[in-house]
Amino acid sequence: MASMKTPDRMEKIVSLCKRRGFVFAGSDIYGGLSGTWDYGPLGAELSHNIKELWWKTFVQSREDMYGLQSSLIMPEAVWRASGHLSGFTDPMVECTNCKKRFRADHLEGKNKEQHTCPSCGGKLGEEKVFNLLFPVAMGSTEVSGNMGYLRGEIAQGMFVNFKNILDTYHPTLPFGIAQIGKAFRNEIAPRDFLFRVREFDLMEFEYFIREEEWQEIFEMWRTEMWRWIELVGIKKELVSELEVAPEDRAHYSKRTIDFEFEFPFGKKELYGLAYRTDYDLRAHMSASGVDLQYFDQEKNERFVPHVIEPTFGHGRTMMAVLASAYTEDTLGDEPRVYLAFHPRIAPVKVAVFPLLKNKPELVAKAREVYSLLKKEIPQTVFDDNGNIGKRYRRQDEIGTPFCVTIDFDTLEKEGETVTLRHRDTGEQTRLSVSELISYIKKAIV
Ligand code: ATP
Repeated sequence: MASMKTPDRMEKIVSLCKRRGFVFAGSDIYGGLSGTWDYGPLGAELSHNIKELWWKTFVQSREDMYGLQSSLIMPEAVWRASGHLSGFTDPMVECTNCKKRFRADHLEGKNKEQHTCPSCGGKLGEEKVFNLLFPVAMGSTEVSGNMGYLRGEIAQGMFVNFKNILDTYHPTLPFGIAQIGKAFRNEIAPRDFLFRVREFDLMEFEYFIREEEWQEIFEMWRTEMWRWIELVGIKKELVSELEVAPEDRAHYSKRTIDFEFEFPFGKKELYGLAYRTDYDLRAHMSASGVDLQYFDQEKNERFVPHVIEPTFGHGRTMMAVLASAYTEDTLGDEPRVYLAFHPRIAPVKVAVFPLLKNKPELVAKAREVYSLLKKEIPQTVFDDNGNIGKRYRRQDEIGTPFCVTIDFDTLEKEGETVTLRHRDTGEQTRLSVSELISYIKKAIV
């Protein structure tokens, strides 16, 4: 088995993703656009399953969370107030020879010591401050005041809607506002597949609290984040926490823990947990002139709540899930590659086959079982291409946990039993169609 840290392993995952329709380069037929990736049919299903699981876990199954979908474009005033216009920057260096640009804080080894270009070896120029926000000129003329920005983080959508939620739902503290949506960052050097891109989804909530309870609630969300890591099928042993030093924290944070994952290209940030204090609500209160205080009726007190923010990068989740699932083994004396997705996030839950393609009665029965399953479990597919062994391998490679084969026993013996084959072990069991549906439904929750 390949070691967890080889770039080779990364190449294998990227090539499987492309070959089987998980992920394609953005604007592929024009040579690709750096920092963008498009999800194909299987990637779209996987992405959807992860988002749905997150939403169910952190929003729908709780009483203290309010869902939101806020706009992707927000005016300059929001980003000035939040501090992103001045502080959302990375240090950049440009090569005086090949003109390529790099993150100064990402230079390594001799390039860092001698200030030389990692690409051509030329001399690097002066370090400059580079703002990551994408400007958007709105309206037919570019007049000042009409400037907007694609959101660099989705959190500001929650802060500017804080009063709307207070006024419409009258929640009591602590409570959260959650959303899943795109963020845009004009990264200096996009790299490492889905890890560092210019457009990505975030799954995040702002959890509003009383200042004095911040440590306790920070710990509560820390535990919940670990629970999520397990739930989504990321290997826990590949995740570790990093207490971010004060000088490395974002401008709004008083404490940050990064959850780092052992990606095939090294240990890097997967998720973040930050104590944002009352920084954002206060900033928006003073810039907008709107009162964003919370009123505690029992205590007859008015105050600005503090915030704990767990952030889950969606693209990085996709990568960590793929890297955790990618497995090479030997089954029946043959080497194989399979994705050991947890059934709850697998893009295809079950594949139905007739044992033989040229026997109409088998095909008709298989179609019947397929239709039954598809109604109950939409992520079901039908396959009658090639021999049964090849079909199993194809499904293993995309991480389908269950394959169902309709054979002559299904037609001839009583009870309409089918063969259920398990992806990880190759083990096969016989059960009736009704048992099959309840078995798979239980396995995918
Ligand atoms: P980095 O130091 O890697 O640039 P950051 O510390 O600026 O990241 P945060 O602001 O904490 O990142 O971003 C929150 C989350 O968004 C990260 O935990 C990560 O999952 C995700 N994320 C950030 N930048 C990118 C990106 N360019 N591409 C994909 N996901 C990203």
